[in-house]
This record gives sequence, structure tokens and C-alpha cells, in this order.
Amino acid sequence: MAARGTSAMPAARRRGGAALRRPLSGIEQREKMYEGKAKIVYATSRPDVVIQYFKDDATAFNALKRGTILGKGVVNNRMSATLFEALGRRGVPTHYLATLSEREMLCRKLDIIKIETIVRNVVAGSLAKRTGLEEGTDLKEPIVELYYKSDPLGDPMLNDEHVQLLKLGTPHELAWMKRMARRINVVLRPHLRKRGLLLVDFKLEFGRAGKRLYLGDEISPDTCRLWDAQTREKLDKDRFRRDLGGVEEAYQEVYRRVVEGEAHP
Ligand code: C5P
Repeated sequence: MAARGTSAMPAARRRGGAALRRPLSGIEQREKMYEGKAKIVYATSRPDVVIQYFKDDATAFNALKRGTILGKGVVNNRMSATLFEALGRRGVPTHYLATLSEREMLCRKLDIIKIETIVRNVVAGSLAKRTGLEEGTDLKEPIVELYYKSDPLGDPMLNDEHVQLLKLGTPHELAWMKRMARRINVVLRPHLRKRGLLLVDFKLEFGRAGKRLYLGDEISPDTCRLWDAQTREKLDKDRFRRDLGGVEEAYQEVYRRVVEGEAHP
């Protein structure tokens, strides 16, 4: 990790950062702002820029289950960067600015909207539980769902009217987030399919910076269900949640396919 007070940038793979007024040079890491279940966020010498540090800590079921997945932080950091770059090329604004190290990413600072947006292509997890549909059933059209990002409440599902009641976002912001979630699915699904992965479902978080909205957080086996496209073997955090074994191996396999970019049949 870059030491406090040293320049974060020399080791960085820099990205344009078109909307940022000043170049990303000489940015220094400052104090810890926030520590979550899987990441730590540090302030920097720039008020509009933060550093995300990816940990190996894993939690599930609202932190009732805890553990460590060795190497997960590296996989999630590098995979998120790869996919944020792919999305950026397709017109999706993301908070990603540069990769600083194996576990650190330089990001635009966002005011995170307290909504988790979930996109589903195949029935799994809570959709199977809620509907009784069999896990693995393909959906004719993707489904977008909204959840309240609230640990004390256990992230309950929301509809548009609940979002207005709680003043979590404006109708305009909500419409943008749903539209963007579908666009992200249209980009990621074929991108991952080419690498032998079926994108079953995934979670997105968006946030505000200035007058604009951006995709934030991460895109990784922690936040996506990814199945081998041929065998439908689970290659994501469900291996940890459901005690399936081979957790580290699954994360490494996703890294090999997505970050090292090996094409699959
Ligand atoms: O549990 P559920 O089926 O609703 O999860 C849908 C998708 O959202 C899964 O890919 C899961 O990994 C992700 N998710 C997440 N963070 C949460 C809840 C779900 O990344 N708090």
C-alpha cells in the first residue's frame, strides 16, 4: 500500500479522468475515511479523489458469517479496474481513475446513493427464494431491483415510491440509475461470455460528484454471480456463502479469465 505522505501516482496506470480539472499527479494518501466489510477508503490530498483499498475479508448474510478469502482483494481490485475501463469505453461514467497497486484504486470521490441496484439474467439467490422459481432458470428479459443500503435494516427491497418516501434519490436520478444498470448489463454480459462466464446477476452502487452521477463501488465475484458458461459451476462468493469449498480457486479462475483476458469457447 502507498505510504501516507508519499506520492500515490508514480506506480499508477493512469486513466484520462476527463472531467477532472487538474491532472492526477502528485496525489498523496491521507487519513482513513471509512472501513467497510471488504474495503477501506482513504482521503487524499485532493478533496475530489479517494483511494479504495481492497481487503481479503469476506462477510455474508449481513455479516453473520465472516471469513478470509486469500488473494480476494487483488482479484476484486484488478477485475473492477478491467471492467470499469471496459464500461468507460462504452460510455458508462465510473468513479475509476487509476490502478495504484495490486490492492489500491484511485477513484473519484462520490456521495453514494443509498440504493443497491441489482440486475438479474438468471434466477438465483433471493429471487429463487422470493418466487419459488428454480435456481438456474433463464429470464427472458433482465430484471432490475432496488434495495435500501442499510445494514441495521438488512438491505430490504424497495420500489420507486419507497425511494421517494425516503428521499434516497430524485425521480430523474432513479430513472438514470435504472437505465444505466441495463446498459451496464448489455456491456458486461457479452464481455464476460467471451471469457467463458455467465453473468447470472450483479449489484451496482451509484453516487453523485458535482452535478453528475457515476457508477461506484466494485464489480467482482463478491458482487456478481458468475457461473462457468459450459458447466454452470459457481465461480463467485456463493462458494463462500454456501460452504462449497474451492473459494480461492474460483476467484483465481475468474481473475485468469477476466484480468488476464483468456478467451474461452
Ligand atoms: O442475494 P441476492 O440474490 O439478492 O443477490 C443478487 C446479487 O447481488 C448477487 O450477485 C450478490 O452477490 C449481489 N449482492 C451484493 N451485495 C449485497 C446483496 C447482493 O453484492 N448486499
